[in-house]
Amino acid sequence: MIKNSKLCPLCGGYKKTGTTTYSVDIETSIIVVRNVKAKICTQCGEEWIDNKTADGLEKIVEDARKKKSQIEVIAM
Ligand SMILES: [Zn+2]
Repeated sequence: MIKNSKLCPLCGGYKKTGTTTYSVDIETSIIVVRNVKAKICTQCGEEWIDNKTADGLEKIVEDARKKKSQIEVIAM
């Protein structure tokens, strides 16, 4: 199979750049990150986040975790 980053590996649909909401539920906190850049499949709705964005997310989640609040909602 030819690797084409514009096509969804799950269904072969076309991926569109957009934003999504990422949420994690850890121990005592729920962290919600809004406005996360992602590629979204127009056919099945699957979302992909690139490495750079994922690194940024990791830092946001780590900072939010330190605050120990029950819910954190952050826009990226
Ligand atoms: Zn798809």
